[in-house]
Amino acid sequence: MTMIRKIDHVGVAVSSLEEQIPFYRDILGLKLVGTEEVPEQKVRVAMFQVGEVKIELLEPLSEESPIAKFIEKKGEGIHHLAYNTDDIEDELSIMKGKGVRLIDEEPRSGAHGSRIAFLHPKSSAKVLTELCQAGEE
Ligand code: ZN
Repeated sequence: MTMIRKIDHVGVAVSSLEEQIPFYRDILGLKLVGTEEVPEQKVRVAMFQVGEVKIELLEPLSEESPIAKFIEKKGEGIHHLAYNTDDIEDELSIMKGKGVRLIDEEPRSGAHGSRIAFLHPKSSAKVLTELCQAGEE
């Protein structure tokens, strides 16, 4: 049976990766796992590893990016919490069965070959919640 066992990452919306990477890498001393563009979400992502959890910095690639809209409305800051699942389809249908509002009915592509889906923040006191199934690496 599928189960949520850990936080996969915390997503942070930033205007510029270049400006924010030094804080995480040089001040906090976290390991930069990599940077990557995720065209599906119109973002550039920098991933830092801290224990089992990652910090995902998200920079918008265009004004239509959901991250650009988030920053415009609320400013930079914590954007979402992502939970690790080993079966995202199953998890989504369970959530649906429990009456949770979904943003993504079907999983879509995330960073590093992962598959992700967002739940609607109305279901979780405005905390945008992501389910994340790691890619084969
Ligand atoms: Zn994420």
